[in-house]
Amino acid sequence: MAQRDYYEILEVTREVSDAELKSAFRKAAMKLHPDRNPGDPEAERRFKECNEAYSVLSDANKRAAYDRFGHAGVDGQGGGRGGFGGFQDAGDIFSEVFGDVFGEMFGGGRRASSGPQRGQDLRYDLQISLEQAFTGAEVPITAATTQACEACDGTGSRGGGQPSVCQGCNGHGRVRASQGFFSIERTCPYCGGRGRTISDPCRTCHGAGQVRKERTLSVRIPAGVDDGARIRLSGEGDAGQRGGPRGDLYIFLSVRPHDIFSRDGLDLHCEVTAPMWMAVLGGEIDAPALCPEGLKSHDSDACKAKVRILEGAQTGDVIRVKGRGMPSLRGREHGDLMVHIRVETPVRLNARQKELMHELADSWSDLPKHHPHHETFFTKAKKFWDGVTGGSE
Ligand SMILES: [Zn+2]
Ligand SMILES: [Zn+2]
Repeated sequence: MAQRDYYEILEVTREVSDAELKSAFRKAAMKLHPDRNPGDPEAERRFKECNEAYSVLSDANKRAAYDRFGHAGVDGQGGGRGGFGGFQDAGDIFSEVFGDVFGEMFGGGRRASSGPQRGQDLRYDLQISLEQAFTGAEVPITAATTQACEACDGTGSRGGGQPSVCQGCNGHGRVRASQGFFSIERTCPYCGGRGRTISDPCRTCHGAGQVRKERTLSVRIPAGVDDGARIRLSGEGDAGQRGGPRGDLYIFLSVRPHDIFSRDGLDLHCEVTAPMWMAVLGGEIDAPALCPEGLKSHDSDACKAKVRILEGAQTGDVIRVKGRGMPSLRGREHGDLMVHIRVETPVRLNARQKELMHELADSWSDLPKHHPHHETFFTKAKKFWDGVTGGSE
């Protein structure tokens, strides 16, 4: 039997653009689809023909070969297979051409089974501040999840009618095809394995029975959460299929690095700078601390921790403030606040101040007594230098 010209089949010119080709095929497939023409062998034959023509012309390489050599150029690629063989790529072509619209109706649900199916779990990445982790918070998020389509009551059928049993597989969702000696069972290309098809798809959801919608949810962040925590919002994921339950929404929390505090388990660490004179004489200093009132009252006393600097404090000294760390997720205890002291050397001294410093320096009759680290350092250094000299002899 002589094969018809592919351009003729799709009723397009040889100069047709990809977009025009797609729309011509869409039109023909809508018209000739077996679900619309049950028991019409002529429609089925032409449907296969269109399918084959499109599978060749939509592929730039195959189209070029076909333009040069005709059917001989693409033999065994798009055409020539009898029976169901010519259908085997139908699902792929449908989802490619019609995307979600047709894909959902015929091919998109190829992984789907015909029974109820639980909706997808979704992931939402949420970054919170350390303050929010400390006090706990209600954080509104906007997540796009699928909802049952209201226009068709989730059936996908216009007017809410029930989908009909698929003609391609009699509702089994699978079809058998003979290829030579082999009989291969595969997902039904008409219904994508659902066993049901929709002849008059809902205009709102295009037959999917679901629509993707943005929803605003309030996420309750418990006090004490740490970086990497997950919160499960049960039933807030995608809608299920065919009466299946909704999936869950998982909130993946991360805590933004803080300018002042770093966290280690339940303990918080921060650094305070002490002026030299205070480090020498001792004194009291306000360290920043997280407070239950949160961000609202950062200058109130609640967000400070009084720290006693002892006489002779050194850079690197750590002062522990009990109970001012993070709250534990379970229970009422808090970690501690570890205040790291950094002693600052004064700069830009005036003549008088320098004079005083000189006076002070001249007053050390017994330097090591007042500078214990200095003494330790020089003992070590001397050993090192002696070692180097010894080794080179
Ligand atoms: Zn089917
Ligand atoms: Zn709908």
